[in-house]
This record gives sequence, structure tokens and C-alpha cells, in this order.
Amino acid sequence: RSGRSAALRARMEERLLGARFRYLNQQLYTGSSRDAARLFRADPAAFHLYHRGFERQVRRWPERPVQRIVRYLRRRPASLVVADFGCGDCTLAASVRNRVHCFDLVPLSPRVTVCDMAEVPLADESVDVAVFCLALMGTNLQEILGEANRVLKLGGTLMVAEVASRFEDIHAFLKAMAQLGFRTVSKDLSSSYFYLLEFAKTGPCRAGPPPGLRLRPCLYKRR
Ligand code: SAH
Repeated sequence: RSGRSAALRARMEERLLGARFRYLNQQLYTGSSRDAARLFRADPAAFHLYHRGFERQVRRWPERPVQRIVRYLRRRPASLVVADFGCGDCTLAASVRNRVHCFDLVPLSPRVTVCDMAEVPLADESVDVAVFCLALMGTNLQEILGEANRVLKLGGTLMVAEVASRFEDIHAFLKAMAQLGFRTVSKDLSSSYFYLLEFAKTGPCRAGPPPGLRLRPCLYKRR
């Protein structure tokens, strides 16, 4: 009997965790990066809950996108300086020899610099590689990508791994990226889970709102 009620309680807790994760996730994808910063500052416990839910989601995938970024960096010189926007648990920094600046809203690891990714404490043109791995969550995409442009050296690399179903029109998106000063170097659209996009910085962002710069929110289904 007590075994059964413990199992029932565990199942209810799972359900509740799932529901809270989906709710937080929806808030992150439908507000600006500043709203997200405010949300987690007010409720750090929500952040830890979000991350447990996130871990559960990506474990279902055949491959963690961050592993693709790790493989990419290992093929390039370890002297390149990296900025990881929305670093989560710092898997990237822990897996490569490069100097990696880790930015997130709450420190899951002591390596993290806590900040909103739209405003990172790095000098202009100071990094070689900027990474957004499943991290383009805020609705102020132009501002966030503009910040990556600011800190990247001319010719520097921008890597984006993002959930495939978020792209309404990948060509319009890439066109908008060109307007933000990012030339497409390669795109791997072969996974049905996530796209991996590599850009090179060609210059500063051009003014004006780039029309194709839209991503659908990534809303998870109840399971
Ligand atoms: N890049 C990691 C984590 C992805 S989850 C990985 O691939 O494993 C997305 C991360 O972006 C979360 O850790 C979330 O807290 C962070 N994030 C979301 N909005 C942010 C913001 N405005 N500023 C900084 N980090 C943010």
C-alpha cells in the first residue's frame, strides 16, 4: 500500500514539475530577455526547476546540440576566445580548452557571469566565437544578436543551434542575419530536431528592423 502511494506521489510530482516547466518555458519564449532576467531574479527556484525540465527534454533527443558545438570548437585553434550566451550548466566551457566567457541568468556553475544576454560585460570586438545553443529565447532577437555582433571581432564566428520547428522561414531568417552583419558560412538543416548555423561577422548591424528575424516559441507538449 505505502509503495503504491509513494509511486502515486512521485507521479504527481513529475506531472507538476512538467506543468511548471512548460509554463516557465512559455514565459521565456514570449517575453523579452529583460523579462526573463526579472523573472529569474525574483524567483531563483523557478530557474532550477526550469533547468531540470530542460534536461529532461534534451535527454530525449538523439544528440545534445551542445556536443556539436564542442566538436566544432575542437577542430579550431584552442586560442580562440569564446562567449557562450545562455550557457546553462557550462557543458561547453567544461569540454574545450578555449577561454570561454559563460553568461546566464542564474549561476548553475561558478564559471557563470550572471547577466542578461542582451547586455554582456565584454568589450567591443573582444571575442572570436559567439555561441547561442538553444538560447535564442527572448523576443528581442535583434538586440540579442546585436550584442553578439558588438563583442565579436570582424570575421569572427557566430554559432547558432536552435530547435528546427522554431524557424518559420529559414531563408528569410538568414537574409535578416545578413542585415545584422552576419554572413552564412554553413547551415546543417539535416536533423529534424535542431538546426546548426554558422555565420561570420561582416561588419556592424545595419539599422532598421530586419523583417525575417522571427522564431516561433518552442512550446513543449504535455507527455
Ligand atoms: N546552452 C545550454 C543551455 C540551453 S537552455 C545548452 O545547450 O545546454 C537556454 C539557456 O539560456 C538557459 O540556461 C537560460 O537560463 C538561458 N537564458 C535565457 N534567457 C536568457 C537571458 N536573457 N540572458 C542570459 N541567459 C538566458
